[in-house]
Amino acid sequence: MSGIQTSWPPGTECVAKYNFQGTTEQDLPFSKGDVLTIIGVTKDPNWYKARNPVGREGAIPANYVQKREGVKSGGKLSLMPWFHGKITREQAERLLYPPETGLFLVRESTNYPGDYTLCVSCEGKVEHYRIIYHNGKLSIDEEEYFQNLMQLVEHYTKDADGLCTRLINPKVMEGTVAAKDEFSRSGWALNRKELQLRKIIGKGEFGDVMEGDYRGTKVAVKCIKHDATAQAFLAEASVMTQLRHNNLVQLLGVIVEEKGILYIVTEYMAKGSLVDYLRSRGRTVLGGDCLLKFSLDVCEAMEYLEANNFVHRDLAARNVLVSDENIAKVSDFGLTKEASSTQDTAKLPVKWTAPEALREKKFSTKSDVWSYGILLWEIYSFGRVPYPRIPLKDVVPRVEKGYKMDPPDGCPPMVYDIMKQCWNLDPVARPSFRLLRERLQQIRAKDIYL
Ligand code: AMP
Repeated sequence: MSGIQTSWPPGTECVAKYNFQGTTEQDLPFSKGDVLTIIGVTKDPNWYKARNPVGREGAIPANYVQKREGVKSGGKLSLMPWFHGKITREQAERLLYPPETGLFLVRESTNYPGDYTLCVSCEGKVEHYRIIYHNGKLSIDEEEYFQNLMQLVEHYTKDADGLCTRLINPKVMEGTVAAKDEFSRSGWALNRKELQLRKIIGKGEFGDVMEGDYRGTKVAVKCIKHDATAQAFLAEASVMTQLRHNNLVQLLGVIVEEKGILYIVTEYMAKGSLVDYLRSRGRTVLGGDCLLKFSLDVCEAMEYLEANNFVHRDLAARNVLVSDENIAKVSDFGLTKEASSTQDTAKLPVKWTAPEALREKKFSTKSDVWSYGILLWEIYSFGRVPYPRIPLKDVVPRVEKGYKMDPPDGCPPMVYDIMKQCWNLDPVARPSFRLLRERLQQIRAKDIYL
């Protein structure tokens, strides 16, 4: 257990490493895995005042908890840190020196393009096992087959199963960090045993979204199969560890399962996506105050992202979720960032994406502002699909010539004015989210929506 060098400021989040029962009335008992918020120091530098998630306050011993930090090395996180790509047999042997039985790495086979080679250090010698790729599966002995390298490595970590030794220690590629280790180090790794998956509540592009239970709290869980896409999600999950705002769907933690699945656990948003919410309730149920409140909720989240130099790239009512208390929260922020850059343009959400982003992939806070204008239109039209009656292929050419959608029926002129400013063809001329938030607050203060 390490001592504390500097004191943690109020607001710091900690995760309990051990159970703590407390000995006096002033102590705050907790269980391993609980998230506690520091609220102040005590006379003893080894103790802090803290609050638990249900609001109880008390003293906690600093060495029983781990500070939760944002994961900063997003781009370097790897699910396969032992994978070294195209290196030669000699390079592999050099990397596995000095000998240490069970030290291993995987490289791309030089002799058999498309296959891989598992290199394992064993009693002073390096063994090279060819991994053949056959019918979409991988195998060393042609008896046991695996879906991917992770599953193969997981198998031989448990059991030598014919190899000279079981795999004990990965030789991590320089410049990469094992995702699992990094999420643990920063306090974001959750315990798989404490997560129960209940039912599928949504289908994302990259896997199922499930309703689950984590230590008694209802949660939403994105289950992503390990592959290249999971790799992209890792970088973005690491961004989520750095963001906290009441109008952003909050990340609760991540589980990196060795052999197949990445779980991204977030707060549960009982009322589902904003677009479905608007469509199902409609004009008769949702008043102007409600529409303005949703607009402001989203704007505040975007102002926070703007201040933190983070670009969402896929802002749309389908990516905003509604909580039990009717708070709109932006979700999927950045999750599609990597994906969209590899997508062909046909797959980009054309109707939401700013012209310069479609044309030159120039994504910025200002291209998010464009999308925000479309989102406002969606809100005030109760979830209609933008650019009604215009064939998709005609949307971009018309928008490029300056075409702007008409106001939705009953939309207050001041709100429509905001939409039009968001749709300025010159990104620089579009307002900032900060300004948009101020305008919306003014509208609310004047009760103009009524
Ligand atoms: P996504 O892949 O994020 O677009 O999610 C697909 C669908 O799953 C959404 O439209 C929601 O209906 C549902 N969903 C995603 N995240 C959550 C969440 N945090 N809480 C409740 N439902 C969610």
